[in-house]
Amino acid sequence: MPQIRPLVAGNWKMNGLRAALSEVEALASTHPSPACDVLLCPPATLIGAMVDAAQGSPIQVGGQDCHAAQSGAHTGDIAAEMIADAGGTAVIVGHSERRADHAEDDAMVKAKAEAALRAGLLAVVCVGETEADRDAGRTLDVVLGQLAGSLPDGASAENTVIAYEPVWAIGTGRVPQISDIAQVHDALRGALTDRLSDGASVRLLYGGSVKPSNAAEIFAVENVNGGLVGGASLKAADFGGIIAVT
Ligand code: PGA
Repeated sequence: MPQIRPLVAGNWKMNGLRAALSEVEALASTHPSPACDVLLCPPATLIGAMVDAAQGSPIQVGGQDCHAAQSGAHTGDIAAEMIADAGGTAVIVGHSERRADHAEDDAMVKAKAEAALRAGLLAVVCVGETEADRDAGRTLDVVLGQLAGSLPDGASAENTVIAYEPVWAIGTGRVPQISDIAQVHDALRGALTDRLSDGASVRLLYGGSVKPSNAAEIFAVENVNGGLVGGASLKAADFGGIIAVT
């Protein structure tokens, strides 16, 4: 089993004005040398300012989405190259809120992930079943189908991270049984090792209502290599509490 350095990634979603950057400074000063990689993905408006706020700290900054194209007539979108140009090192693609709100399908997510790799960014590719999928016993089919359809060509353990986020666990305070998380992560690991020569080393994050109080138990699961954190990434005290369990 390869030694994998965990990643704890925060997704601020559509939250955060410039005043919130004080949380980044607080996080940087309270966690100067974390045992995991740390990534924060603010709204696009804050990427550059957060890069400045995180300067000299281990905190990396990323985007929450990118367009597949490098530039062009796509009002309101940003390119992966723009995130990199602003000092970002990663981008989340295929978050379930993007898949739902913007009708992003696996092919689009794959194209966005490939744009991330083209720009030299780490692609954080999200997959996850809805509650109806789970109730119908389709969790593994859905998640493995999304992985197969969304994994970028050229993916490797260096440039791609997979985040498993059950849609019904996002922002709800509900978390799957630990055995269910283990089952999905084992299945993802199996699919990645089948597909990629270094698939055993690709980081697999769990996301959905991760908090300081449940992170240790979740991160201890085999094949869970950290987390993608929404609400609890907004405050340095909470996010730091999650980082501290790695
Ligand atoms: P949550 O969100 O931690 O607030 O549940 C996770 C996510 O959507 O990435």
